[in-house]
Amino acid sequence: NTFAEIDLGEAVNANIRKCKYVRPTPVQRHAIPILLAGRDLMACAQTGSGKTAAFCFPVINGIMRDNFPQRPRAPRTAFPLALILSPTRELSSQIHDEARKFAYQTGVRVVVAYGGAPISQQLRELERGVDILVATPGRLVDLLERARVSLQMIKYLALDEADRMLDMGFEPQIRKIVEQVDMPPSGRRQTMLFSATFPKEIQRLASDFLANYIFLAV
Ligand code: AMP
Repeated sequence: NTFAEIDLGEAVNANIRKCKYVRPTPVQRHAIPILLAGRDLMACAQTGSGKTAAFCFPVINGIMRDNFPQRPRAPRTAFPLALILSPTRELSSQIHDEARKFAYQTGVRVVVAYGGAPISQQLRELERGVDILVATPGRLVDLLERARVSLQMIKYLALDEADRMLDMGFEPQIRKIVEQVDMPPSGRRQTMLFSATFPKEIQRLASDFLANYIFLAV
């Protein structure tokens, strides 16, 4: 029941030690092995449960294990390998801060893009390269329409606080985004859906977006 028992790779384990995490939280203890095994996941977990690390660790590990697949050469279009969607600027920014700590010295580059802030600096960050993109749905649709981001290389897709995203009316944007993830050569993606609640609307998203998934409630 320690992180040392979970094989996340030496670089990630060193970052976990630096964060002073000793024991995985319940959602981490259950979700990380499921995600490392490549399965899709529907997890009911609250804020404060440690869910950010639960999806970040396997995604960072997976990108390293995949040896950072080659992206098409297109100077103005970014091709992230992982996408984390979250409802608000504040949450996206928190996920970005945590993910950067977890990815320190792994070579995995994390970029955030949210609305309500100038797009120019986000575009500059994207141009420098991105492995994990943390984004709010509205700003990401904007970036896709400008062809500054392509989702065709996405192998890992996480939807965080999915119930809040639906409450905020983001379902059309989310569907538009997820439609673009399944274009070759990404082939089959691994998808993880996190939500505090599990109403009918979330059950529908789970059956539309997840394949043969494991349900976890903590
Ligand atoms: P989250 O639910 O992802 O927003 O995380 C809640 C807080 O718990 C964050 O401040 C994390 O840094 C912290 N945290 C996450 N996992 C652990 C852990 N295994 N041990 C101690 N603190 C943790």
